[in-house]
Amino acid sequence: MIYNSFRDIELSSLGLGNMRLPKLNPDDPDSKIDRHKAHELMARAMEAGINYYDTAYVYGDGDSELCLGEGMKQFDRSSFHYATKFNIRATTDYEMVFETQLKRLQTDYIDFYLLHCLQTDNIEGYMHGGAIEYFEKQREKGRIRYLGFSTHAPTDLLERFVNHHNWDFAQIQLNWFDWHYGKAREEYRILTEHNIPIIVMEPVRGGKLASLNEKAEAILRKVRPDWSIPSWAMRFVRSLPGIKVVLSGMNSLEQLEDNVNTFSDPLTLTDSDREALDEACRAYASEIFVPCTACRYCTKTCPSHIEIPAYMKLYNDYKVRGNNALKQAGSIVSAGTPADCIGCGTCMPHCPQDIKIPQILAELSKLL
Ligand code: SF4
Ligand code: SF4
Repeated sequence: MIYNSFRDIELSSLGLGNMRLPKLNPDDPDSKIDRHKAHELMARAMEAGINYYDTAYVYGDGDSELCLGEGMKQFDRSSFHYATKFNIRATTDYEMVFETQLKRLQTDYIDFYLLHCLQTDNIEGYMHGGAIEYFEKQREKGRIRYLGFSTHAPTDLLERFVNHHNWDFAQIQLNWFDWHYGKAREEYRILTEHNIPIIVMEPVRGGKLASLNEKAEAILRKVRPDWSIPSWAMRFVRSLPGIKVVLSGMNSLEQLEDNVNTFSDPLTLTDSDREALDEACRAYASEIFVPCTACRYCTKTCPSHIEIPAYMKLYNDYKVRGNNALKQAGSIVSAGTPADCIGCGTCMPHCPQDIKIPQILAELSKLL
C-alpha cells in the first residue's frame, strides 16, 4: 500500500468508502447491510494496509456507521482513521448527531470530521448555524482531530466556503471524466491554491468508468493489457499531487483486491498512458454527448418552435451533472418545450451532425 503524509500521520492512499457495503438483499434499497460480507471486507482492508474508513450519519439510515463500528472494534483504535459526516439536511441538531455517531462507531473520537455535501441550499446553514463552532469545540476537547467538508457545490460556492474557515481538508468528486467535462479540475485548482489536502470520492464516477464503450476500452487495453478499466480511473486520480486518499465504495473482495494492487503499484501514469486516457475519454464522450454545434439550422423548420440547440445543451449538461442540471430548463427561452415535439422529423435532414433530435427531446420530456 502506498501512503501519503498528512500532518503527523501516514494515510493509506486508498480508503474504504462505506456507502455501498453489500446488502442482505441487493435488490432492496432499504435492505440492511450483510454483516458477514461487510466485516470480511473490513478485515481484508485492514490486512492490506488500508487505514482510512469513511462513512456518514445518513448512509444506510445509520446502518453504515453501526456496521463499521461493529467491524472495526476488534482492531487497535490507533491503527486506523474514522471519517464521518454531519448532514444538515437530515437534521440541524449537530450535537445529537455527533454523540450518536460516537456511540454507533464505538469510539470516543473521530479522526476526520466533515460537514456533509455542501450545496447551494445549505451553505448558509453550515456557515451560520453554529455547527462549525460546535465541532471546533469538540476538536479542542480531542473528540475530533481534523475538520473538513465534502461538496458537490458550484465552484463559486466552494471558493466562498474555503475562505470562510481554516479547513484541514476537503472531499470532492474527482475522476478523469469530470476533469475534462465537469468542474473537477477547477475544484482541484481552488483547493490546491489554498493548500487544502484533498480526499477524493467517486474516482470511478459511481461505477460508470468501470466499463466504457468498446472503442474506449480497446484504446486502453492496447496500451496496458494487464490493467483493469477501473484501475485507469484510480491511477489518474492518484497521479495528482495534493490528493491524500482516494475513496472507493468497495462491496466485494475482488474489487478490493484490484484496488489494493493498483494502490500498491508505485507507477501511476506515464505520458503515453495519459495520451491514451485522453483519447479514450474522447471516444467515450462521443457516445455520451450530443455533438450539437448550435448552428440553428434545425430551428427554422420546427412547427413547434422549439429552441432545439438550447435543449441539446441541457441534455449534455444533464449527462455530466445529473438531475441538478435539469433545473436550468426553466430559464430556456423557447416557444415550444420538449413535450411539444410531435416527432415529425422535419428538423433531422437539416442537422449536419446527424443528431436524432426527436429522440433526445422525447428523453428530455420524460426527465423534465
Ligand atoms: S421532430 Fe420535433 S423538434 Fe423536430 S421539427 Fe418536428 S416537432 Fe420540431
Ligand atoms: S442542426 Fe443539429 S447541430 Fe445544428 S443546432 Fe440543430 S441540433 Fe444542433
